[in-house]
Amino acid sequence: MALDIRDQIQFLKGVGPRKSLLLNGLGIKTIEDLLFHFPRYHEDRRHFTPISQLEEGQIYTLKVRILQVMERRVRRGLHLLKVNVADDWGRMSVTFFNQSFLKKALVEGREMIVTGKVEKKYGWQMNSPAYEFLEQGDDHCLNTGAIVPVYGLTEGLQQRYMRRIMRFVLDSYGSHLSEILPQDIRRRHQLMDRREAFEQFHFPKTPEHMEQARKRLIFDEFFVLQLALLTRKKVRLLEQKPAMTVSPESVLSSQFWQTLPFNLTNAQRRVMSEIEQDLCSTHVMNRLVQGDVGSGKTIVAVYAMLVAIDNGYQVALMAPTEILAAQHFQVMMNYLNVLQVNAALLVGSTKKKDKEQKLAEIKSGDCQLVVGTHALIQKNVHFHHLGLVIVDEQHKFGVGQRLELKSKGRTPDTLIMTATPIPRTLSMSIYGDLDVSVIDELPQGRSPIKTYWISEAKRQDMYGFIRKEIDSGRQVYFVCPLVEQSEKSDLKAAEDKYSQLKEEVFPDYTVGLVHGRMSAQDKEQVMKEFKEGRIHVLVATTVIEVGIDVPNASVMVIEDAVRFGLAQLHQLRGRVGRGLYASYCILIGQAKTDEAKKRMEVMVQTCDGFEIAEADLSIRGPGEFLGFRQHGVPELRIGSLVSDYRLMAKARAEAEKFLSETRLEEGVRGQLRGLVQERFGDKIELAMVG
Ligand code: ADP
Ligand code: MG
Repeated sequence: MALDIRDQIQFLKGVGPRKSLLLNGLGIKTIEDLLFHFPRYHEDRRHFTPISQLEEGQIYTLKVRILQVMERRVRRGLHLLKVNVADDWGRMSVTFFNQSFLKKALVEGREMIVTGKVEKKYGWQMNSPAYEFLEQGDDHCLNTGAIVPVYGLTEGLQQRYMRRIMRFVLDSYGSHLSEILPQDIRRRHQLMDRREAFEQFHFPKTPEHMEQARKRLIFDEFFVLQLALLTRKKVRLLEQKPAMTVSPESVLSSQFWQTLPFNLTNAQRRVMSEIEQDLCSTHVMNRLVQGDVGSGKTIVAVYAMLVAIDNGYQVALMAPTEILAAQHFQVMMNYLNVLQVNAALLVGSTKKKDKEQKLAEIKSGDCQLVVGTHALIQKNVHFHHLGLVIVDEQHKFGVGQRLELKSKGRTPDTLIMTATPIPRTLSMSIYGDLDVSVIDELPQGRSPIKTYWISEAKRQDMYGFIRKEIDSGRQVYFVCPLVEQSEKSDLKAAEDKYSQLKEEVFPDYTVGLVHGRMSAQDKEQVMKEFKEGRIHVLVATTVIEVGIDVPNASVMVIEDAVRFGLAQLHQLRGRVGRGLYASYCILIGQAKTDEAKKRMEVMVQTCDGFEIAEADLSIRGPGEFLGFRQHGVPELRIGSLVSDYRLMAKARAEAEKFLSETRLEEGVRGQLRGLVQERFGDKIELAMVG
C-alpha cells in the first residue's frame, strides 16, 4: 500500500510500534519528519587504505576479504566473533562483540568494508568496526565505503537502522518532495533541486555535493521563516488604529525639551523621531529600541510617553524588577511633575488599600501613566484607554507577558526596549516582523569601563583601590554570585559578604545591602540612600542587574564572576560608567572550564555589547542564548543563525521580493503559504511581541 509522506512513521515498512515510539522520541512522527531528520555530521569512509599502510591508533576504512571466522563465548554475556581478513597487501583481524547475528553473513570469501580504529597487538586488529557487505552490483553502501551520515539517535536505535530506513524512504518517497522555490530564485543563488538536496544531504556523493545540498536546505528553511515573519509584519501594518494627532508645539513635549538636563545624542534624536512617526501614523507601532547599557533609552521612552499622554491616552510602562520600576517612576516624576501628569507606581507589594485606589484611577482614566512590574498584567488591572505600552528590559519577560500587557488596550502602540543587544543574525529571525531602532552611540564624556579579571590573591590590593575611589567621592557595587539556583542561598552569600565588608574591610565607610527578599519599601530606601551618596558600598544580589542608574558609581566588583553568563556580566558591568567618571569592573574568580575562561577574556577585551552578544552566541549557540526560547523563536532544523548569517540575509531579500511580486503562479504561492503555516504558524504568533 502506498503511503503518503504525511503518514505516521509506524506504518512504514520496517518500522513497528516499538521503533516508532523511539523515533517519536526524536521528534519523528511522520515519514516527512524522518526526511527532515538530518545527519549531525558525515564521515568520509570512501577511501580504502591498504593494510600495508596502517598506522597505530588511526581510523581507517578498509576493503577486505573474509578468510576465516572464529566464534568464542568468553563468559556469560560476552560473545566474540573474530574474523581474519585480508586485502591485496596484507592481513589483519576484526572482532565483533555480542553480534552473533553476524555469523551468518560472515561467509568466507565474501568482501566487506570496515571502518574503525586500528591497533597493533599480534598483527593489526580492529574492534567493533562499522561494516558493510559488498554484494555484486550493489552500488550504495550505507555504512561505509561512502560518505556516511551520522544521525542523532536515542537508546535502542542504531546508526545502521537509521541509515537503512532513510535510504528506503528516500527511494520510495523522494518523489513526494516537490520543488518549493520559484525557478528564478534557484537560478540566482545556484540552488540544487530540492529532492536532490535531500538525497545529497543524507547520502552525499562528494563533499561538494553535501555542501550544495546543505546550502539548498538551509535556504529553504530561512526563506520560509522570512516569509512567515514578513507576512506577519504586513498583516500588522494593515491593523488600523485611531490616529493620534500630534502637533509639534504640544505643551507637554515643548516643556520636555526645556527640562532636559543634557543634550540628546544624535542616535537618541533619530530614534525619537522614528517613534514620533509611528505614533502619528495610523499603523499600530511595534518598535524595538535596542541600545547598549547606558546609551540612554529611558529618555526616549519618556518622550514617547509624553506624546501619547498629550494626545489623551494612557501609558503603561512595565519593568522586570520592583527596584527598576521604582527608579523609573522617580525619573518619570522628575520629568512629568511640572506637567501635572497623574501617575501611579504599581508593584506586587503595593498595599491593598493603596492598590485599590490606583486601580480605580487607572480604570477611570484619571491616572495617565502607570509604571510597574508584572503587577500590571494582573486580571484586576483595567485601563480606560491605553494608547501606549512600553516594556523595558524586554528580554526579562516572556512573550506571553508582553502580549498580555498589550491586550489591556484595544490596539495600543508598543515600544519595547532592550539593553541586551541581539546579534543581527538573531534579530533578523526573532524580530523579522518588528521595526527596530538602534541607539548606537553613547552620551558624550563616557569612557570605556576598564575591566580586570583577578584572582583571590589580589583581593587586598583591590580593597586598597576601592578605598581610593571612595575617598575621591565615588561609590561601589559588590555583586554576589548565584550559588545555587535558589534565592535563599544567593541571599546567604550576599549577607555574609555584607557583614564581612561592613565590619572587617570598610568599617569607616557606609555599607548597604539590597536583595530580592526585602520588602519593596526597604529596597527603595536602600536604593535611595545609594543614589543620594549616603551609602558608599552597596552589596547586592542580581536584583540590580538591569536598569539601575547611579551615575556616581564607578566600581563594579563581581564575586565569583565565572558563575555568570556573558549577557549578565555585561548588564552588571553596565551599572557603572554611566556618568563622567572613569569606571572599573573587577571580576573575581577562577575559571574551571574553558568556556568560563573564554567568557572572562571576552569581558576584559571589550565593552561593546554587540561584540559580547556575538561572542556569547558563538560560545553557547543560539539555543541557549539569552533565554532565547522565551522569544518563541522557531527552532531551526538545519540552518545555524551564527554561521549561516549570509544565507539568511539572502533569503530575506528574496522573501521580500517574492511577497512584492504579484504575478506569481498561484500554485507556488499556495504551497509556500501552507509550508509557512505548518512550520511556523503557531510560533510566529508567539514570536510576535506586539
Ligand atoms: P539605559 O539605556 O541603560 O536604560 P539610561 O536611560 O538609564 O540608560 O541612561 C543612563 C544615564 O545616562 C542616565 O543617568 C541618563 O540620565 C543619562 N543620559 C541619557 N541620555 C544622555 C545624554 N544624551 N547625555 C548625557 N547623559 C545622558
Ligand atoms: Mg534602562
